[in-house]
Amino acid sequence: MALRQLSFLGDEILRKKSKVVDVVDDKIRQLLDDMADTMYNTKNGAGLAAPQVGILKRLIVIDMGQGLIKLVNPKIIKQEGNQEVIEGCLSIPNVWGKLMRPAKVTVQALNENGEEVIMTGSGDLAKCLCHEIDHLEGILFTDLVTQYIR
Ligand code: ZN
Repeated sequence: MALRQLSFLGDEILRKKSKVVDVVDDKIRQLLDDMADTMYNTKNGAGLAAPQVGILKRLIVIDMGQGLIKLVNPKIIKQEGNQEVIEGCLSIPNVWGKLMRPAKVTVQALNENGEEVIMTGSGDLAKCLCHEIDHLEGILFTDLVTQYIR
């Protein structure tokens, strides 16, 4: 188990665009494992993107309570409907807000073996996929908030 240090709001890296991963090798697999360890080490983290641990690569991990998902180069290829959600972010502690997200998304990515996968998520999983993929573009949920919750 290896924990990585989290980047917090104000760190420039959170605003940068992450680079496409060309080869899914042991180094990438180790990084995905470290990201998962770091996420599980937090109180209520359900997802983490590589820029949040200071690395500008297109990698995300998600666990909404139904098992760990590790995605390389994730890309939303289809989205349907809208939902109002409440989000927070490990990089922006103690801030919560309402925003709109698609109700359902289809994501194309590579798995940790470098194989192409297509996954569909709705509800909370759709929200989480959008939030983490936004991190890879330097977008934070606070950019989209319509109302903060106190
Ligand atoms: Zn976040």
